[in-house]
Amino acid sequence: MPENHQCLEMCQQSSVPLFTTAGVHPHSASEYSADTTEQLRQLLKEDKVVAVGETGLDFNRNFSPPEAQIYAFEQQLELAAETGLPLFLHERDAHQKQLEMLSAFREHISGGVAHCFTGTREELYNYLDLDLYIGITGWICDERRGSHLHPLLKDIPADRLMLETDAPYLLPRDIRPKPKSRRNTPLNLPHILQVVAELVGKTAEQVARESRATSLTFLTCRTGFNSLLTDLQPMQEVL
Ligand SMILES: [Zn+2]
Repeated sequence: MPENHQCLEMCQQSSVPLFTTAGVHPHSASEYSADTTEQLRQLLKEDKVVAVGETGLDFNRNFSPPEAQIYAFEQQLELAAETGLPLFLHERDAHQKQLEMLSAFREHISGGVAHCFTGTREELYNYLDLDLYIGITGWICDERRGSHLHPLLKDIPADRLMLETDAPYLLPRDIRPKPKSRRNTPLNLPHILQVVAELVGKTAEQVARESRATSLTFLTCRTGFNSLLTDLQPMQEVL
């Protein structure tokens, strides 16, 4: 929870438009206590907080027991339904259960992004069938574990494809020269854009334009939140 407050503070103090999410990651689900929902509810009222998350299920290493993860995810699905905010979703090795829970809530939530999607074609289509957005990171630049995603990129409609870095994690493995630090930063987004553009057979400019428009649509899928677009206008001009 302290990180949620730190992120909000950073956004409030930033001189450029900056937004954050509020939620409890599945790794930290065992820390989800009786008053967490109320604390999140307060944070989600802030203008700078635009989504509920990261939330979801991660049965890969079970840093928190699955039952705790399911409980925390359910609480946050309810918050998304209550606030009208979209979800910022994390999932690893938990697709069936995540899908089941999302499906149960789908008609009550405004939208969601399957962040850092690394799954199979079937999993991709399951998310698209729920009309979710798909976040692609530098995972696709990893020749050992990301190349299965290459043929799938063309199956993601432009109005559902979002690009992200997952900084400070997932430094793209093929960045040359190799940076001294393993720390990833948002500055590496153009590298991911370039790789995606090549794989979908479009120019980088076109993919940038489309994915930016998609991200803005996602941000405003909260009902009555169009004032965000005005806030983002200066950023659009900078870009
Ligand atoms: Zn994640």
